[in-house]
Amino acid sequence: MRQSRMFIPTMRETPQDADSLSHRLMLKAGMIKQMASGIYTYLPITKLVLNNIEQIVREEMNAIDGVEIHMPVLHPKELWQESGRWEAYGSELMRMKDRHERDFALGPTHEEIVTALLRDELKSYKKLPLTLFQIQTKFRDELRPRYGLLRGREFIMKDAYSFHSNEASLDETYHDMYSAYSKIFSRVGLNYRAVEADSGAIGGSHTHEFMALADIGEDTIAYTDGSNYAANIEKAGCPVPEVEELNSGREVEKVATPDVSTCSSLAEFLDITLEETTKTMIMRVDNDYVMILLRGDHELNDVKLKSHFGTDDIDFATDEEIQNLLSASPGSLGPVGTDLPVYLDHQVRNMQDYPTGANESGYHFINVNHGRDFEVEAFGDFRFITEGEMAQDGSGPVKFMRGIEVGQVFKLGTKYSEAMNLNVLDENGRSVPVLMGCYGVGISRTLSAIIESHHDDRGIIWPKAVTPFDVHIITANPKDKEAAEIAETLYEDLGKHYRVLYDDRKERAGVKFADSDLIGLPYRIVVGRAAKEGKVEVKARDSEESMELPIDDVKQYLE
Ligand code: ATP
Ligand code: MG
Ligand code: MG
Ligand code: MG
Repeated sequence: MRQSRMFIPTMRETPQDADSLSHRLMLKAGMIKQMASGIYTYLPITKLVLNNIEQIVREEMNAIDGVEIHMPVLHPKELWQESGRWEAYGSELMRMKDRHERDFALGPTHEEIVTALLRDELKSYKKLPLTLFQIQTKFRDELRPRYGLLRGREFIMKDAYSFHSNEASLDETYHDMYSAYSKIFSRVGLNYRAVEADSGAIGGSHTHEFMALADIGEDTIAYTDGSNYAANIEKAGCPVPEVEELNSGREVEKVATPDVSTCSSLAEFLDITLEETTKTMIMRVDNDYVMILLRGDHELNDVKLKSHFGTDDIDFATDEEIQNLLSASPGSLGPVGTDLPVYLDHQVRNMQDYPTGANESGYHFINVNHGRDFEVEAFGDFRFITEGEMAQDGSGPVKFMRGIEVGQVFKLGTKYSEAMNLNVLDENGRSVPVLMGCYGVGISRTLSAIIESHHDDRGIIWPKAVTPFDVHIITANPKDKEAAEIAETLYEDLGKHYRVLYDDRKERAGVKFADSDLIGLPYRIVVGRAAKEGKVEVKARDSEESMELPIDDVKQYLE
């Protein structure tokens, strides 16, 4: 590809409005253009890299008998009502109406669609197991779109769904997916860890998140260098120091949980006001425990509300954000709005002198303080880990690091098949609900995660597996006709074996070099003055040294 015919609008200045390293580099390298908050056009370099990531994902899905399909983006409301998620999904679900005033959602995930598809097609267990996947644009009206493609409102996901007539078969596919994900994230060049994602409340490993280690990550994970496995310390509980600071002095109170449908805001539902800046609640909703800490040290800036709503972690730092949250409808916050009763249960163990009736439906507790009412080790089955201690599996000292969730595997069981009547006839001719699993990879997020860990201060350094081109040929002096001809020939030659980007633009050498470093292709070949003597300068992007090579040796060097 000739760069003069490409569309790579690189920037000289560092963009000020970008909030993460990958976001800055992608803007600077001319890879993305923002249309609205969390909504981007993927420019050619990005598109090429996405294609490569998608190809790797396809190969690994096919290797475990995943079959590719393409489901609609527009989802009729009725299907989401069947699963109960039209209400429960809340404001993250993008909704729209057609010309007949019928409601639709723009798909944030496809359990409803795929379940509806199979209930019409599947009759017998003999057709199982089955794994379907797609690579598609997803829509989520994120509260805080940020970090470029890391948290978009429109993004690309690979989502797979598996169907089984027995647990053993689901376990097997889950295991295959887990391995496939490990291969995918290794192949694309990420330093990642698989993390058990739930608090242990559900028992066993029914979901894992794949976390790319990176400072910008929104989760904190404990890991060791000697093992591929890690723990998500935020999911499993609340960081100790924060909880310790809490001491509202108020007594624990058992209060009746209001009917969520009568509450117009979360503040009303939780009986919290912004002025009451120190308040804690621990509740349990279905299998998810929900913890809310609202704290403040008089200064509004210090007010921090941290909540764990099922799988969606929200970390609010500013007063305004808390206010926004409190005025949101309770139904918009995941599991909280779905299935009350809310109650405190054995999740919080060692609870000292707790009022009796702790497991009673329809009630919850407020002003629950760590250290006073319970010990922090008491969260689920989780034990707090300290940095530097030897890991339980002996794989080395524990380190803490931030992680980006690039993928998740999940055993759904019969949640959707029961709600939506997806049944098959088993060996004995009985109708049984199908067991399901779902498995997501954030394709566009993965691209950003790759940049977060593969760059230097001059730009991106693409891993070979996903690089948009293999080689960058540059003419140093556009006026040098002879060198240009030599570059032309080399471009055609190498083009037979490699994906070559040829910078034939009439730009100064300095501009070309800067762009080349920004774009970050694995090899750069400069055709300059020495070309007349049959020599070019070759440099690997990840090395500081360049070398002069006879043109005829270039091919051999690249191999
Ligand atoms: P998060 O916790 O970051 O909000 P999630 O748990 O809501 O992600 P899933 O429903 O598990 O996301 O979706 C599967 C994958 O899709 C995630 O692991 C992530 O890689 C990707 N993903 C989710 N939300 C976004 C987003 N807003 N922008 C880009 N990628 C996303
Ligand atoms: Mg998540
Ligand atoms: Mg999310
Ligand atoms: Mg997830």
